[in-house]
Amino acid sequence: MAKKIKVTVWNEFRHERKTEAIAKIYPDGIHMAIARALRANPDMEVGTATLDEPEHGLSQAVLDATDVLLWWGHMAHGEVSDEIAARVQNRVLEGMGLIVLHSGHFSKPFKRLMGTACTLMWREVGEKERVWTIDPSHPIAEGIGPYIDIPHTEMYGERFDIPTPDQVVFISWYEGGEVFRSGCTFERGMGRVFYFAPGHETFPIYHQAEIQKVLTNAARWAAARVRLPQACRMVPAIEKITPRD
Ligand code: ZN
Repeated sequence: MAKKIKVTVWNEFRHERKTEAIAKIYPDGIHMAIARALRANPDMEVGTATLDEPEHGLSQAVLDATDVLLWWGHMAHGEVSDEIAARVQNRVLEGMGLIVLHSGHFSKPFKRLMGTACTLMWREVGEKERVWTIDPSHPIAEGIGPYIDIPHTEMYGERFDIPTPDQVVFISWYEGGEVFRSGCTFERGMGRVFYFAPGHETFPIYHQAEIQKVLTNAARWAAARVRLPQACRMVPAIEKITPRD
């Protein structure tokens, strides 16, 4: 059997421990719900990491052994250390994949990798979202129909301040009238980045089969293919050089 994809699901894991209604939806945390869904894939080996673990659970050894990292954060972006955010960014440049979920649009690793403000419009009234597949030939859209309906969601609207994505795989429409580039890919260094908007903590969105399918596809698409440490090196010449006078 081919080498398994090493997945790490990272979650700040605060909302689920603070709010009873959220704990009811995700009793052992959003990270565990996502990890369980990904573990159903025999080609994946899935671990988890959370903010309050030493080094946020993201030691250099953990990141070195990770092919693709999923990131969910919201209320504690500021508590993520700059050192760990830089470590994640550097691993992406070396080739690790990164899937940034929902409110992770404002996380330190995503903002560092995008280089823009990553701001957006939002509204939390539990309206309907229709996630349109606009690039059906993309590997992340494999097995997804023309659209995914999410009965209750938080609205994320344009303008989303990101650099022009390499590919926009999904665009969401909301009951209130807005649209949003809800599934976008980027390449940074040797690494692939996918931003996916659905996933507000007060709705059971990560329990939805089509959403789990998108995350599975995205993990396979983003998984590291190479590892190329980023350093400037002085190198000897390959061919013999005849110096000029
Ligand atoms: Zn939210």
